Amino acid sequence: MSLSHGPQIIAIPGPSPVPDRVMRAMHRVSPDIYGGELSELNMRLFDRLAWVAGADAPPVAYIGNGHAGWEAVHANLLAPGDKVVALISGAFGWMWAEQTAAQGVEVVRLSSGPKAPDLGRLAEVLAADPGIRAVMVCQIDTASSVQADIPAIRAAMAEHEALLIVDAIASLGCAPMRMADWGVDVLIAASQKGLMCPPGGVFTWMSDRAMAKARPCPSPWWDWRVRRQADALWRFWGGTPPVQLMFGLVEALAMLEAEGLEAVWARHAALAETVGAAFQAWGEGSDIALTVADPGARAASVTAVHLPGADWLRAWLADKAGLTLGIGLGAAHPANALRVAHMGHCNAVGLLGTLAAMEAGMAALAIPRGPGALDAAARVVAARA
Ligand SMILES: *Cc1c(COP(=O)(O)O)cnc(C)c1O
Repeated sequence: MSLSHGPQIIAIPGPSPVPDRVMRAMHRVSPDIYGGELSELNMRLFDRLAWVAGADAPPVAYIGNGHAGWEAVHANLLAPGDKVVALISGAFGWMWAEQTAAQGVEVVRLSSGPKAPDLGRLAEVLAADPGIRAVMVCQIDTASSVQADIPAIRAAMAEHEALLIVDAIASLGCAPMRMADWGVDVLIAASQKGLMCPPGGVFTWMSDRAMAKARPCPSPWWDWRVRRQADALWRFWGGTPPVQLMFGLVEALAMLEAEGLEAVWARHAALAETVGAAFQAWGEGSDIALTVADPGARAASVTAVHLPGADWLRAWLADKAGLTLGIGLGAAHPANALRVAHMGHCNAVGLLGTLAAMEAGMAALAIPRGPGALDAAARVVAARA
């Protein structure tokens, strides 16, 4: 028999759960895209997007996914022959480096495995070459669930001229980000993760320093200078704006504002700690292990683990319990790995239910595991709530 009927829980690290409020805000016919209402909404949206990133200025927006955000940065800042450093802690870092290198950019890949970036190595590499144009890093690598310390990376770059480019696709609205205060030059985020919306919108914020270093862009559609001079709604989006997504984003950002950004970050940190405590207990005397050993480098929005029989467990949970977990993307043994997302619209009861259903699934499948995981998780919730 199956016990899956009822509300479904989707704990995959993107697209993340879309709140009912956001769904309702999007459920409407398109107004006139040349009328005043939508233009005003657009201005409000761009203002709130600056706020959520801690940026000095609104972003440049594109209809696209996260990969399109990488492309936008590439089109505006890099050219064949440029040299950049990629700090890589997981599969997303590798994919980004590959997309950049495929366009003739020399990419120095500094891989740290599922650990925080090696800042000593970064400082060495930068010291040896003043011509390095940029340092690229994922704040959270969604595959390994490593979270990088962005201010520490900025500090390690010292007086070097390189731009700091941060992929915050899996972290904006989940982990702290103060773009301007931290000296981040370029930030990338998309609509479907911490921003709790469907995929389809991607945003790039840039510092004045990054704008000053922008290259002639090969295409006016990607060109930050052109977009920043937008004086009509369609110019902000390079064509028809994603009308329903805009309504959804404004609603989602209002939810973040009502909760308070600090509270949103604290909620994610507490939920991450809750999952970490459960896996720590399950791992006692078994082969289950958190991918990121150092608690200080674990992501706020997603937890990756090694778990023998993970694919089997994921299938059981979807079939029997109404729970969908993330695949073991980028793991050494993907069939024995999975990811639990705690990204965006996620709370204690959803997460405790997720962990309890996993306990049931592992019991049903006789997956060896340590005792006390649910107690450990509940204790974190009790202490932090
Ligand atoms: C999801 C994600 C991407 C890719 O986004 P797409 O929308 O799938 O193109 C890139 N970087 C990080 C860190 C991500 O989490």
